[in-house]
Amino acid sequence: MKTWTVKGAMALVLGLACMNVLQAKEGMWIPTLLKMVEGDMQAMGLKLTAEDIYSINHSSLKDAVVHFNGGCTAEMVSAEGLLLTNHHCGYGQIQQHSTVENDLLTNGFWAMTREAELPNPDLTCTFIDRIEDVTLQLSRACVGLSGEAREKRMQEEMEAIVKRATEGKGLEGRVVAFDFGNSHYLITSRVFRDVRLVGAPPSAVGKFGGDTDNWVWPRHTGDFSVFRIYADADNNPADYSADNVPYTPVHHFPVNVDGVKDGDFTMVFGFPGRTEQYLTSDAVEHVITRLNPMRIAMRDEGLAVINAARASSDALRIAYAAKQSSVANAWKKWKGQNRGLTELHALDKKRALEARLKAATGSEVVEGLAALNADCFPYLEARALFIELAYYGPDILNYAHSFSGLIEGAVEGEKRDQLLAKLRANESGFRKDFDAQVDEQLLGRLVDEYLEWIPETLTPEGLRQEVSKAGGGPAWAAKVFGKSVFDNADAMEKLLASGSAKAWGKLAKDPAYLWIENLRAHYFAQIAPEYGRLRGEIELASGAYTKALRRAFPEEVFPVDANSTLRLTYGKVEGSAPYDGMQYNPLSTARGILQKYVPGDPDFDMPERLVELLEAREYGDYANEEGELVVCFTGSNHTTGGNSGSPALDANGHLVGINFDRSWESTMSDILFDGSRCRNIMVDIRYVLWVMDVYAGAGHLVEEMTLVTQEGGEE
Ligand code: ASP
Repeated sequence: MKTWTVKGAMALVLGLACMNVLQAKEGMWIPTLLKMVEGDMQAMGLKLTAEDIYSINHSSLKDAVVHFNGGCTAEMVSAEGLLLTNHHCGYGQIQQHSTVENDLLTNGFWAMTREAELPNPDLTCTFIDRIEDVTLQLSRACVGLSGEAREKRMQEEMEAIVKRATEGKGLEGRVVAFDFGNSHYLITSRVFRDVRLVGAPPSAVGKFGGDTDNWVWPRHTGDFSVFRIYADADNNPADYSADNVPYTPVHHFPVNVDGVKDGDFTMVFGFPGRTEQYLTSDAVEHVITRLNPMRIAMRDEGLAVINAARASSDALRIAYAAKQSSVANAWKKWKGQNRGLTELHALDKKRALEARLKAATGSEVVEGLAALNADCFPYLEARALFIELAYYGPDILNYAHSFSGLIEGAVEGEKRDQLLAKLRANESGFRKDFDAQVDEQLLGRLVDEYLEWIPETLTPEGLRQEVSKAGGGPAWAAKVFGKSVFDNADAMEKLLASGSAKAWGKLAKDPAYLWIENLRAHYFAQIAPEYGRLRGEIELASGAYTKALRRAFPEEVFPVDANSTLRLTYGKVEGSAPYDGMQYNPLSTARGILQKYVPGDPDFDMPERLVELLEAREYGDYANEEGELVVCFTGSNHTTGGNSGSPALDANGHLVGINFDRSWESTMSDILFDGSRCRNIMVDIRYVLWVMDVYAGAGHLVEEMTLVTQEGGEE
């Protein structure tokens, strides 16, 4: 239930408008509100207007920004649909096309012709059509209503708004809550479904430094991959077809081949996923002392199994590549986050702000939040553990669950045929990255760890006894796998081929199936509803909290949290000095790649050709004024996950890099941003072009782009 009012909505807008933009670098700006910071951005060096960045009247920078598969960002770099994103964003697709014989992860991939570009079923690219504040509209529709009636009316109005904006226009749309429901925006978009892999550097470039360097500066990773969007003959989204043609985007970014220097203005335009800057001190304490430690412990177990498997054979190295990356990424971030929150005295800072609010307004909002949080913590923990086990743990669980529609007979007729066809089609993809022994180990170790942390009252009934009776997690998992057929490729193929009801009857008694279904049933009955109810109340109270802060301290900046919608963040190319006696330069160069090179080390090995080119300093046209090849740079742009792949733009809106990470000292920025030490990491566009052109010999891709110099002249 949302309780904002017209007055509340105005207060938010005014709150934003009145901001004294002292900490210009903090904040992920909603594109329609850029006018408020236009002056500040221009004072820092921007040569464009807010309207050049986001406009619904003419083409603007927003038309070249892409939500890549709903999780990352990408950018258009040619009039023929060419798109850049991170290597780690395209990793799943690169892995899908890799086999032991044709290992694109290791060797890289470059389509030398359009015919050689590789289709990717299910990959989508979304362009934003318009963003519109509909807060007042919704508020008016709900005047005089409360509780469920209000909620119902609100839903209806949102649906009507979306329908009016999209019907018959080839658009998709949704109304999204911002700032805990204090405002709502209509976002319409165009979704493309034929997106082909064009190029990827070898992992030794795209993932250079591996987990060792992930979340760390100085960095020397060429974290990019190249795709192309295809459209139908009218330039509209279409399912994959050999007849589709390269999409002509409304705008594509010119590429600044002069690159950046220390102090240059930069902005990052993309889809930041989620920040939690208004967690109160009690919730931050819970993150530090319970939530992060339990999630880290679960992933420690998973990574121990996966890393050992990957080291044991090439086949397993490839099969578990994407899983390892996704498990390790947040695992390392949570570690850094705990360290940063502690070092920055996050609890003291949060408590001080809460005390100031209390002193200024007498508001009880923080106490109210703390009481709700305390009720929610056990559910939050149980939910986090369920996610770790069911989604980042053994793959057999989700696989078995995907058969539930057939097994339970819940789908019939045409729907049943469609599901069966989907399962048959998914079979080879699943088997390609699945190893029963690895999966069994994952199940055993993760179940033990799960039982270590799950609050007693929320433990699935009988699980503790069952596991202990079997002699612990691994022995219990061996029993499950011993009797299951889901891990048996031949048996499953036969079942899928027969497609008979009898076959599904057999699976209904399969221990892997029974176990995941019980775990899910327990989660959806015992945890999700209460968690959802409490979260709803926490959202409301958090909305009241941010409103109270803005009203009490109108001179201060209280930016709106990220919510996977398009945002602009701006800052400078800037180094940092996070610790005493330490000074980070903002630019890293190819010299550092050679300094890190360790033959045979999985994180720091390199193909011979790369070593030779770098040793010979064959930088082509891509060296800077000092004759160095810049590889990565840091900036003071406020970013988060989801900004991966975002365009890093200069003062003219020209592409200078691709955002891909934050430094180790910034990992807490989702909860507490600190302008003096938070730095985002971007791969320099000159290194991207060098890898394509000089290393890979795919200069035709560079030729497709619009190359410009610092002052904006075409090359
Ligand atoms: N490397 C990060 C990610 O994968 C990007 C970031 O969070 O800054 O999400």
